[in-house]
Amino acid sequence: LETVNILGTPVHRLTMAGAIQEIERRIKSGGRHQIVTANPEILYSAHHDPSIRQLLSEASLVTADGIGVVWAASILGKPVAERVTGIDLMADLLARAAKQGWPCFFYGGKPGRKEASPEEERSVAEEAARRLCDRFPGLQIAGTAHGYISASEQAALHLQIDAAKPRLLFVGLGAPRQEQWIRDFFRATTLNDIVAIGIGGSLDVFSG
Ligand code: UDP
Repeated sequence: LETVNILGTPVHRLTMAGAIQEIERRIKSGGRHQIVTANPEILYSAHHDPSIRQLLSEASLVTADGIGVVWAASILGKPVAERVTGIDLMADLLARAAKQGWPCFFYGGKPGRKEASPEEERSVAEEAARRLCDRFPGLQIAGTAHGYISASEQAALHLQIDAAKPRLLFVGLGAPRQEQWIRDFFRATTLNDIVAIGIGGSLDVFSG
């Protein structure tokens, strides 16, 4: 795959359709794959933080997320056709997951409120799951978790995800935290057929 180096990070020169094709291939071929939609904030933090630079260099796919990134690629003489954002990738991957029977897990967003109305009782991830199951009939949600658990609850979350065995894991904690979380999860998990992708605030969008 062709890349363009932006602030020290190789970004893949893919269209939306190309990115989906590459991700689908990885889901089918197995293994652990981290997908990063690189916005200017991530690329900027990578520029200053070697651990994030390392993470990006080890990611399976890094797409150009944001018009500034697309613009930078053009200036560098290696244009990228279009933005490939987390929310667009997620919508497209969920449509495929529903058809192919790939179980999905959503992690991130605000927790539900106890003793509230039924709608408010659901976490953002649960509400997004409910709406997305309506939108994509056949979609299997392997599980959800809200994004405000403490460090001491992380081990339990890892076990929850391991037990749920998702093929697709969507993580919405904001960048670059979600990318660091995926890296750490991949170091800890026993799952080996999984594609994980950081999606920023997409669960908020899908939930309301
Ligand atoms: N979030 C979370 N846990 C946190 C902080 C943030 O789950 O400790 C969620 C927040 O609820 C929101 C998302 O992360 O759904 C961040 O969205 P934002 O639009 O800021 O991220 P971006 O798309 O800019 O990366």
